[in-house]
Amino acid sequence: MDLFEYQGKQYFAQYGIAVSPGDTADTLEEAIAVAERIGFPVVVKAQVKVGGRGKAGGVKLADNMDELKLHAGNILGLDIKGHVVRRLWIERSSDIKKEYYASFTLDRPNKTHLGMLSASGGVEIEVVAEENPDAISFLSIDPVRGLDLETARRWVAEANLDEVAREQAAEMLVKLYVCYVEGDCDLAEINPLILTPDDKVHALDAKVTLDENASYRHPEWDAFRWSETEDPREMMAKERGLNYIGLDGSVGIIANGAGLAMSTLDVVNQAGGSAANFLDIGGGANADVMAAAMEVINSDPKVKSIFVNIFGGITRVDEVAKGVLEALKRVDISSPIVLRLDGTNAVEGRAILAPYLNEKLITEPTMLEAARRAVELAN
Ligand code: GDP
Ligand code: MN
Repeated sequence: MDLFEYQGKQYFAQYGIAVSPGDTADTLEEAIAVAERIGFPVVVKAQVKVGGRGKAGGVKLADNMDELKLHAGNILGLDIKGHVVRRLWIERSSDIKKEYYASFTLDRPNKTHLGMLSASGGVEIEVVAEENPDAISFLSIDPVRGLDLETARRWVAEANLDEVAREQAAEMLVKLYVCYVEGDCDLAEINPLILTPDDKVHALDAKVTLDENASYRHPEWDAFRWSETEDPREMMAKERGLNYIGLDGSVGIIANGAGLAMSTLDVVNQAGGSAANFLDIGGGANADVMAAAMEVINSDPKVKSIFVNIFGGITRVDEVAKGVLEALKRVDISSPIVLRLDGTNAVEGRAILAPYLNEKLITEPTMLEAARRAVELAN
């Protein structure tokens, strides 16, 4: 899960990293109130989950109320690389003497964490890497040993941060590392990390990606799920504990196992259709799971047919068949359902469904035939 800048800053603040005081605003009125509360000059910042907001006109300084109204009015509703701005972050403006870059991310091939630090921040790190690769100082961090202050001190010197910034930056890097590890981030990036004219080091931006695999131990992350920005189908699926990803097509898909679900998307494409979702009901799916899956798919107005693709292994097809009937009892399904049932107890499963088959509940013997039928029904 990617965080908005303001959420990233809230996260950083919990770990003692210095950020500017500020607040969010979803309307011009709220923006005015926030600016009044924190005092001018302020910076008005578009909250979208994409970089390069500054260049796109999504970050503006306001010295007074007139400027604030102008910028807040322009930025709300602004389209930045396909992301429409619905929320602003307004913070006390900082004076900048220097802009640095700092981040921690995973180095998967080397099974370590990777720190990146540069005295040339404020521009995208990819651009620095391209034009001036020597300006980035990389630090490989053994996850067992972590990052201590001594190592951080050597690192800030090696990266040529200004002398006055070094001690504060080293301390902040250790805090950022703790935030990154204990906070279960895949990425924690500060760009720019600034040095102010009065020699204070301070995070002016925050880019944080949380590792969803760790969400079970972070109930507090729920506060970061700003509901309006998420796919309502995915929210519904999440509430029901399903492994679901919303897509744009018209064939709803239910399969057991992630591999089979992916193959099902391919075969639907091959048959000339497009999938409305990815949904893996996992092993041993019972009636409850089937009903929940059908409910989510049924709630999607774009769905015109449902393709249930089950290859029984540990999952027994007769159980799935019972689940389908149970689901049909519980949920009023608007689209026709095409089933491909194979594997363990497939014969028993098909026999269970046989008396109920009609033009809205169809079985096909193979995956490809079932895909073709589902696509035909969706068109
Ligand atoms: P990004 O373009 O999406 O990375 O957004 P940033 O939050 O990094 O802001 C872009 C740029 O705006 C920064 O690199 C700064 O140069 C500038 N900026 C942001 N906040 C302030 C501020 O408080 N004061 C000043 N003077 N410049 C700022
Ligand atoms: Mn930035």
